[in-house]
Amino acid sequence: MTNGDAGPSVDTQPAEFAVARPEIETAADVARERDMMRALSRAAQSVQQARAPEQVYDAIGRGLDAMAYHTTVMILDRERQNLWLAYVSMRDTVRRRVEKLLGIVLEEFCIKIEPDSLYHDILYGEEPRFFDLLLEPMSQALPRIVRPMTGQVLAMLRFGHGIFAPMRLDGDPIGLLAVAGKDLRATDTTAMSAFAAQAAIAIQNARLYEELEQANVDLERKVERRTAELRRTKERVEAVLNNSPDAVLLLTPDGTISSANPAFTGMFGYAPDELYDHDPALLICPTCADRFSQAMHKAKSGDGVQRLELKARRKDNTGFDASLALAPIMENGERISMVCTLRDVTGAKELERMKDEFVAFIAHELGTPLTSIRGYSELLLIRDLDKERQRRFLSLIQEQSTQLSGLVGDLLDLSRLEVGNGLSVDPRPIDLGKIVYRAVDPFRETSPGHTFGTDVAPDLPPVRGDSKRLRQVVRNLLSNAIKYSPEGGTLTVQVRALDDFVEVSVSDEGIGIAPEYQAHLFEKFNRAGVADSGIEGTGLGLVICKHIVEAHGGRIGVKSAPGVGSTFTFTIPVAG
Ligand code: ADP
Repeated sequence: MTNGDAGPSVDTQPAEFAVARPEIETAADVARERDMMRALSRAAQSVQQARAPEQVYDAIGRGLDAMAYHTTVMILDRERQNLWLAYVSMRDTVRRRVEKLLGIVLEEFCIKIEPDSLYHDILYGEEPRFFDLLLEPMSQALPRIVRPMTGQVLAMLRFGHGIFAPMRLDGDPIGLLAVAGKDLRATDTTAMSAFAAQAAIAIQNARLYEELEQANVDLERKVERRTAELRRTKERVEAVLNNSPDAVLLLTPDGTISSANPAFTGMFGYAPDELYDHDPALLICPTCADRFSQAMHKAKSGDGVQRLELKARRKDNTGFDASLALAPIMENGERISMVCTLRDVTGAKELERMKDEFVAFIAHELGTPLTSIRGYSELLLIRDLDKERQRRFLSLIQEQSTQLSGLVGDLLDLSRLEVGNGLSVDPRPIDLGKIVYRAVDPFRETSPGHTFGTDVAPDLPPVRGDSKRLRQVVRNLLSNAIKYSPEGGTLTVQVRALDDFVEVSVSDEGIGIAPEYQAHLFEKFNRAGVADSGIEGTGLGLVICKHIVEAHGGRIGVKSAPGVGSTFTFTIPVAG
């Protein structure tokens, strides 16, 4: 047994070890007991500083070992059926010999707690037990089969006497402290019991601490997960708002602006925070103000989402067609804010207007020749006309019906282009020169006021083309050249070979096209400023020509000067 510090009297002993002492016989006994109390007190202090349960077991064992005892700390499992070895003071060589002798591994060793067994009695009994000889507790601890070797084991260990003190909390055992030593006395049980009580509290504290630590780690993980989730949700919402093509405004429950997304800035020209705390009515044209304030009133009174089409107003006071939605954001039945989204529907409105115009235009274009055809045919039916007038009327009917069928053909081509199917071409090797001749010839008769010239290069390579469609292109360009040369003049069609293409150009000496119209010439319904000129047309011919040429892998373009004339040129790739 170690000697404690000399000096301090019994009064200075730590309070927790001021335990009742049985009769003290000699001064040496008093000194021994005082030293033991001090040493135990120091051991208890280091035990209490340990954090994790394993550290506590170690501190208990080492603390008592430091007093020259052999210590064993045993911990009762949750089911209170086994005592597990948590600390054994044994030199490695001795440990190996014991393990070999008994055929066990101490780390896995446990004592089964049977009812009415010695260890049951010790754990649940009132007092710690002093054993003069350790034979009984040692043999009871061992499996039956190796019990006959207890004597041998004890001889190896040379433990001497022993005290077995249960570690209890509120009377419930949580483990057992076994201390062995040659100079242990029965009177030491009281001090050991007090130490065991301290050790039990330290174990309990360490377990609680560990649980608390674990709970803390779990909580931190949960918070981290939740924070990450929230961040992701926030990022998603921000991504939606930042990339939305619609202007999105967040309004306070009273209906003033609290924030806006980037699309709002782009759409209205205000800086992001410029309208903070303002009335969104500022964004609406005065003509629509009443409808907007009614919708706002309804949204505030819980009438659900309000939608309306109105004229919105930018910062520079310009207006545009917008579709607006006002939706309250509710939380626990209370309106906490409102969302106002505004979509620029100028394009859709324009499209609607164009569709209306198109229908009116088509009705007019179809109606005019039909009226003539009906008028002349009625005249032919009800009047007895001379041969000469009959011929004239019939040729007028034929002219109008040709115009009608051309228009219907163009419309059909256009509708095919609109649905995205493109124009069907059936390409095969053909001679573009021949196609040009065949397209020009009929015009020589029907347009006597114009002079036609053809300049077709000899030995043209064949092109890969659809002859019907390419004839349609040449005819279209020729009829335009005639139509837009009301004063007559020379029309020249030239065909020549370029590297991998054959090029066809149709030139006239007509009215020409102003430069500002040339860029959009090949767009549908574009009449390049001639709508009011009295020259009839639909603005479809060139669009169709462009699609046919491009479907062949070629290109089409124009060079023109007002009052001088125009040259339309297209290329088609050579075959092979
Ligand atoms: P349309 O002749 O039926 O109006 P097109 O698509 O064929 O439609 O032509 C579009 C516009 O291009 C015409 O309205 C006209 O203003 C201009 N244009 C086409 N060809 C000529 C040309 N040879 N000379 C002058 N202007 C032309």
